[in-house]
Order: sequence, then C-alpha cells, then structure tokens
Amino acid sequence: MKKTAEGGYVDIDGISVCTDHFIGGEQVASPTTFEVRSPLDWNWKLAEISRGDAGTAVRAIEAAEQGFKIWSRMSPTERGRIMNNLADSIDANIEKIATIECLDMAMLLDSLEKRVIPRAARNFRAYANLATEHQERMWNSNGTRNTVIRMPAGPAVIITPWNAPFMLSTWKCAPALAAGNSVILKPAEWSPLSLSLLADWINDAGFPPGVFNIVQGIGREIGPCLTGDPRVKRISFTGSPETARHIGRAAAENIVPFTAELGGKGALVVFADADIDAAAQKASSQFHDSGQVCLAGTRILVEEGIRDDFLEKFTIYTKKQIQGDSRDMTTTLSPAIHPDHLAKVEAFVSNARKNGDKIIFGGRRWKQDGLWYEPTLIEPKSNDSEVVQREIFGPVLTVQTFADEAESIHLANSTAYGLSGIVYTRDAAKAERVGRSIRAGTVWVNTFLIRDLTAPFGGIGISGIGREGGHYALEFHSDLKTLQVLEGSVI
Ligand code: NAD
Repeated sequence: MKKTAEGGYVDIDGISVCTDHFIGGEQVASPTTFEVRSPLDWNWKLAEISRGDAGTAVRAIEAAEQGFKIWSRMSPTERGRIMNNLADSIDANIEKIATIECLDMAMLLDSLEKRVIPRAARNFRAYANLATEHQERMWNSNGTRNTVIRMPAGPAVIITPWNAPFMLSTWKCAPALAAGNSVILKPAEWSPLSLSLLADWINDAGFPPGVFNIVQGIGREIGPCLTGDPRVKRISFTGSPETARHIGRAAAENIVPFTAELGGKGALVVFADADIDAAAQKASSQFHDSGQVCLAGTRILVEEGIRDDFLEKFTIYTKKQIQGDSRDMTTTLSPAIHPDHLAKVEAFVSNARKNGDKIIFGGRRWKQDGLWYEPTLIEPKSNDSEVVQREIFGPVLTVQTFADEAESIHLANSTAYGLSGIVYTRDAAKAERVGRSIRAGTVWVNTFLIRDLTAPFGGIGISGIGREGGHYALEFHSDLKTLQVLEGSVI
C-alpha cells in the first residue's frame, strides 16, 4: 500500500496490521490516535489507530466521488471479477484475519476460522454473481416502451458495529460495490483491526482508487461528518437503535436512503412436542461469544409442562461450556469486548436483582481480573422486567413459561424488537403457524443461524429499517429510473 503521510503498521502476534485509514487507494494517517486493547487481556495494548476527523471524512468523500466516476461505468462482470479477487485474498488469509479479530474482539478463534471469516469471502462472491443477474426490465404499455434502468446511486457510507466486524462489514460493502457504488466504510472503534487488514488487498484486487475506502475513528466524532455530507448518496448502518436515531436524522436532513440493522431480543420458543434435548443444547449455545450476537434467542419461552425437564437439560449443557481464552479451540465462552460493555451487562443484572427477578444461576464475573461474565439465567418477575424488554448483549438469558400456543406468540411479540425468533416443535402445522405469527425479520424452526445469502435479512420495530441480502440490498444501493419512449417515434 502506498503511504502519503506518517503512519504505518504495527506487529501483532507476528501479523503486520495497518494503523491508518485507506483513502483513494493510499494509506493516510491522522495526527491523533485511539488505542485498541485486547479483551483477552486488557493490559495488552494492540495498537494505536489513526483517529479520523472532519478532514478525514471530507478526504474520503472526495476520493469516493472520484472512484464512483470510474466504478459506476464499469460492467457488472468486470466489477464482479475484482470483487472475486478480493474474496480470493480473504480466503488466502483466513488464519491471519481470524487471529486479529480474535485478539481485538475476542470472538472464538475456532468459529472465526471455520465459519465467520470464510463467510466474508462468500459475501463478495455472492454479490459478484448477483450483480450480473441484475437485469433491466422492459415492456410496452400506453403506446410507449418502458425500460427500468438501475443506476448506481453514488458514494455509500457504511457504518458497522464491533461484533463480528469483518463478516458484517463485508456483508454490507459487497452489495454497495456490486451495485456500482463507491464505499466509505467506518468500522467500530472497539474492533477496527481486521478491517485494516482488508485494506491491504484492495489495490491488488484491482479496485480503482477511491472505490473502496476505510476510515477509522470514534463514531460520535467522524460519524456525523460522514452521514451529514450531502455528497453521500446511501447510508447503511448496523449497530444500536440509539445510534440509528442519530444517523436517521442526518439521513433525513439530506433526504438520503438509509438502512439500519439493529439490536434484537429474540424469543426461543420450546413446545412440549419438541426435541427437548436439541432445544436445550441450542438454548445453551446462545451464551457463545459472550451473548454478543444480535440474532441470539435471549428470551427462552418454554411450555409449562416441560419447564423442569428443559431446565435440567439446559443446565447440564451450560455446565459443559468452557470459559477461557478465545484462541483455545476448547473454549466456548469468550470475554466481553470492553470493560464499559461488561459494566453495562453487570448493571442489567444488578437492576434485575433490585427488581425482584430471580437469578437462577450466574450473575457474577467469572474472574475478577478479566472481562468474562458467567452464563446467567434469570426468571423475571414479570414480562415488563427490564431484562426481558431490553437488549443486554451479554451472556444473560431469561426464561418464562407459556400455557398454550397463543400465549407463546403473545410473549414472543411483546418487546419493541423484531430481529429474530427460534421455534422448537415437531408439529409441522404449529411450526408454520407460530413461525408466521412471530413478528421478526428471520424465524428459524428447529435450527439457528443457517442463512441463505439471497434471502432478505433485517428487523421489524426497533430492530431496523430496510432489508439486506440478495437483490434486496442491490435495490437499496440503486436508483431506479423508468425510461419511456413513444413507440414508433424513433428508428
Ligand atoms: P453502536 O451503535 O454503538 O456503534 C455502531 C457504529 O456506529 C460504530 O462504528 C460507531 O463508531 C458508530 N457510531 C457511533 N455514534 C455514531 C454517530 N453519532 N454517527 C455515526 N456513527 C456513529 O453499536 P455497537 O455497540 O458497536 O454494536 C452493538 C449493537 O449492534 C447491538 O445493538 C447489536 O444488536 C447490533 N447489531 C445488529 C446486527 C444486525 O444485523 N441487526 C448485527 C450486529 C450488531
């Protein structure tokens, strides 16, 4: 990568990681930095990263405008070829990316290597293919020939959260690029490092300068400079509802289309006719990655007659979970990302205690000198309890019972969120009825997390606006135009 200012690379566990922004095909440093520490050992400072400001945002937007002029005119096939090149680089560097993401976010190394980072390469490949199928529609009516033309929209700002940052960011950048937009990606400040690695392969893949830019910085500082600039034509955000409200206001000011993938409070509904063992095992796996998974089924709803049987099995599976270093392949429970985040999780549990909710197990830090929190199960005093109604984003689940199907649906739909749901039943008709009745963007029956990248993905209520996935994201990143030509008026 070409350097234009003082800056450079830091060596982390033998892996060289860029500490600067990537703008217009060049490494660009800021005079000030922010530090990144490892949740595996908070005394371990991993890097000082360039702290973007208003000037960085302007530079990135100007570069993206230049990049857009070239990229938007390239054919979908040519764009796809370049995106596939980037996917090849990801595939060739899975171990490296997984190690860095494990160190700065503490996601389990095993799942990063086997599942999460390979999915990032698939994100680019899937959209490289989809873009070539993105055909225009043509028909005759009222004496005119109508042609629907999909035009690339312009520079897109993509802002991403700290959990699974590499996979989530590539999932959002791929459709923007495939549609012909240039991109300015702003990763989260708590886990920016894996995306710094990505910058190293962008030029080699063949992206013209300015097409794919990555700027680092603190969200409340650089974020508004990006989202408030009228030259930005799309804003795609994943993160919390609180930040989405700020970004939504900026989008409204410039009348710019905006999608938001936000938090969740998924119900995991277990009927008496289900494979209770499979349901208990899946419920216990909701503690993985310290519960820092937006799609997690964090509200366990169990049919009354099987509560004790289910909880016995669930407890056995949870006792088998192993807390430890996320690099250790036997570890299943990683630490929280950051001391501030752990403090939030602790506050939720402390409020639950004060509220009279029953802590069935857990409810404390695992070790005083680390960021691990014990897997925690709470039986709330009522459905209005804060632990039922608000996303905790930690290893804290609630359990409630229901009497019948109607009550299960009522409880499942009783929060302001609507991102995901999980249903365990062996009854096909019940699976269909309940699956259709849960108000969420995705509902899984007898499984969890399996995704087809062409299916729509998103949330209802405060879980989000708009849909990602397949053609839905390509539509978002395009401006549609109808061209009408009077029949017989041209030869
Ligand atoms: P967050 O909202 O605090 O931050 C997300 C991003 O927004 C970060 O990059 C941050 O720097 C940036 N940001 C902060 N303030 C900004 C501002 N004023 N303007 C522009 N950008 C700003 O969220 P988080 O804590 O990083 O992520 C956790 C949340 O993300 C949880 O609620 C989780 O459920 C959600 N999430 C949702 C999905 C999904 O697909 N629906 C996926 C992962 C995470």
